[in-house]
Parts: sequence; C-alpha cells; structure tokens
Amino acid sequence: MKHLVLLGGGYGNMRVLKRLLNSSDLPENIQLTLIDRVPYHCLKTEYYALAAGTISDHHVRVTFPEHPRLNIKYGEVTGIDVNEKKVLLKDQDDVSYDDLVIGLGCEDKYHNVPGADQFTLSIQTIDKSRHTYQVLNNLHANAVVGVVGAGLSGVELASELRESRPDLTIKLFDRGDMILSAYKKRLSNYVQNWFVEHGVEVINNSNVTKVEKGSLYNHDEKVECDAIVWTAGIQPSRIVRDLDVEKDSQGRVVLSEHHHLPSDEHVYVVGDCASLPYAPSAQLAEEQAEQISQVLLAQWNKQPLPEMNEIKLKGVMGSLGKKSGFGTMGSTALIGRVPRLLKSGILWLYKYQV
Ligand SMILES: Cc1cc2nc3c(=O)[nH]c(=O)nc-3n(C[C@H](O)[C@H](O)[C@H](O)COP(=O)(O)OP(=O)(O)OC[C@H]3O[C@@H](n4cnc5c(N)ncnc54)[C@H](O)[C@@H]3O)c2cc1C
Repeated sequence: MKHLVLLGGGYGNMRVLKRLLNSSDLPENIQLTLIDRVPYHCLKTEYYALAAGTISDHHVRVTFPEHPRLNIKYGEVTGIDVNEKKVLLKDQDDVSYDDLVIGLGCEDKYHNVPGADQFTLSIQTIDKSRHTYQVLNNLHANAVVGVVGAGLSGVELASELRESRPDLTIKLFDRGDMILSAYKKRLSNYVQNWFVEHGVEVINNSNVTKVEKGSLYNHDEKVECDAIVWTAGIQPSRIVRDLDVEKDSQGRVVLSEHHHLPSDEHVYVVGDCASLPYAPSAQLAEEQAEQISQVLLAQWNKQPLPEMNEIKLKGVMGSLGKKSGFGTMGSTALIGRVPRLLKSGILWLYKYQV
C-alpha cells in the first residue's frame, strides 16, 4: 500500500479529497489519511459573520467525507520531517507518508507592530473567531471597536458588525487613500459610501504603530478602543514557515510547476501556504487542488505528468452586511444587491456540493 497524507482539511485539501475519492483512476493500493485539529471542514470565508454574531457556529461547519479508503485523524500537527517522510503530531505517534499534501492555511501577520499579537482579536481560525464573537457581542452599549486592516476580511467584518450591533462605534483603519483602492474606483467609492451611510468611521492613510490593552496608536495618535480586531495581514502556517525549503517574499513555499517541492516530488503544498501568482484565496486553493489531484493520479498510474494550464480565477465577491455587496467578474465591477446574492449562492452551492 502507498500512503497519501493530507495535512489540513481546508478548501484545498477538501477539493483534493473530492477529486481522488470520486476518481475511477484511484489505484487500489492507495490509502489516504486526512489530519486536522478540528473535527469538521470549516468555512473560513464566513468567519467574519461568525465573529460578528450574525450566523451560528453550525453554519460554518461541513462534515468531512466518509469513504473506505479515507482515514481521518484529529490532532495538532507540530512539524514535518521531509527527510524521514513523517508528520509529527502533538501527544500522538508520528505519521509516515509516501506522498504528502500540505494545506495548513495561514495565520495573522502582525508586521512587528508591538502589542498586536497580544492585544488584538483574530478571525483566522475557528477557535479565535469564536473568541472574537464572544468579546464583540459581550461589549457594553456604545463601546468602540477598532478593525485594523481594510482588505476583504476587514471590510466584511466591519459591515457585518455594524448590522449586528448598531450601538457600537466602529473604526476601520485603512492604509490606503481610499478603501479597496486596488479595485475599480466605482467599487471602492460604493464601499466607502456604504460605510459613511452606515456610520462606520473609515480612517484612510492610517498606520497602526502600536497596540496596548484598550488602545492603539494610529501614527502617533492614541485611539481608545474597547476591542481591536486584526485583519491587516496573513502569513503561512508556522509549520510551513519552519520548513527548511525555499520561500517567496510572503513566506509561501516555492514549488515546481506540478506544485511539489522542487527537491521532493512527493511533497505538495496547496492553498495559502503555496507560492502562486495570485493573492491567497479559497478559490485559488481549489483550482490548485484540481491540478494536484491530476498530478497525483498520473504519478500513481505511471502516466506522463499532465501539462499545467495557467490557473484562472473567476472573480471576488464581498459582502456589506446581509443586503449589499461588491465584487468583480472578469473586468466588470459589481456593486449592490446582485454581488451579495451571488455570494450567498456560491456559498450555498459550495456547502451542498463539497
Ligand atoms: C474573513 C475571511 C473572508 C474570506 N473570504 C474569502 C472569499 O470571499 N473568497 C475566497 O476565495 N477566499 C476568502 N478568504 C480566504 C480563504 O478563506 C483562504 O484563502 C482559504 O481558506 C485557504 O484555504 P487552505 O486550504 O489553504 O486553508 P484553510 O481553508 O485555512 O484550511 C487549513 C486547515 O488546516 C487546519 N490546520 C491548520 N494548522 C493546523 C495544525 N497545526 N494542525 C492540524 N490542523 C491544522 C485547519 O484547522 C484548517 O482546517 C477569506 C478569509 C477570511 C479570513
């Protein structure tokens, strides 16, 4: 038997599992093991709503697949020994592999801002999102919340929290001149106006230099906050950062065109941990996973490796609360109710087809 071990049951590895377990080309001698610390697949793209308190915990969970060829192991991965071909687990025996797909996702990146790791809340793991939910929803009336970072997740969190807690003062700290400045002007104007109309204070050209208990510093100005959520940067999982392999400037693992380590054709990296020509996203993890599945099947069946086409992404959909949103499809910017409905539809389809 050959053993494929999948680290992390996120968007990338869920797609690998789906493709392999449903494939008639999966050789009889391949056994799969999925390892995750959480006993279900978590819909990370919805953590902003979990933290804001507008959806239940149950809404962001999907059960892992059951299949005679799949063994599921729950535990904390603490390291990977690529020389010995084994995965190290906390308080459990090591797990040996013949092939490995690392899909451990990402963590917050604090850019060396003093106090940020200690005094801010996070929406990067389900555990942390639940804690953030508790803190935000237990805040006294008219409390002040700072959201640091106005990328997709910061914008979604600030708008969802606005609808969840109309009494709160919400300050969204944005580094740019204009919110979502990388997008078309029409889109960023729409989002900025939504915040103005809904009483969220967007602080453009901000630079959070220090965080303390109960306050942050924007440049040198002290801003009192009852809670601060960090959405200002991500980096690959520590397990991947600790691997002694080549990384790009964002700490993501540099891979061959077939998505494995250049020095080891048995170790693949999928999703947020992989160096790819796009910003990390669930969509990217899934598209890359499609290719990894094809490569694995070709290798096991001793077929020539497939040519890897350029990964094409369909676009981005973001929410502004439950009724409005924004997005891009090809070069078209979408604003208002349509992208919000599309986003809900995409989630619905994902949950029922995964
Ligand atoms: C609020 C928010 C909104 C987002 N919205 C979008 C969106 O609209 N569209 C989009 O495409 N992307 C979006 N993203 C990004 C997207 O969620 C990630 O890019 C995607 O989850 C990456 O998939 P992955 O497979 O690499 O890892 P993940 O989906 O993060 O999965 C990693 C898995 O590894 C497990 N794990 C991690 N470390 C360990 C360990 N040490 N031991 C055991 N298990 C471990 C975790 O439990 C998890 O199951 C959003 C992200 C956030 C935070």
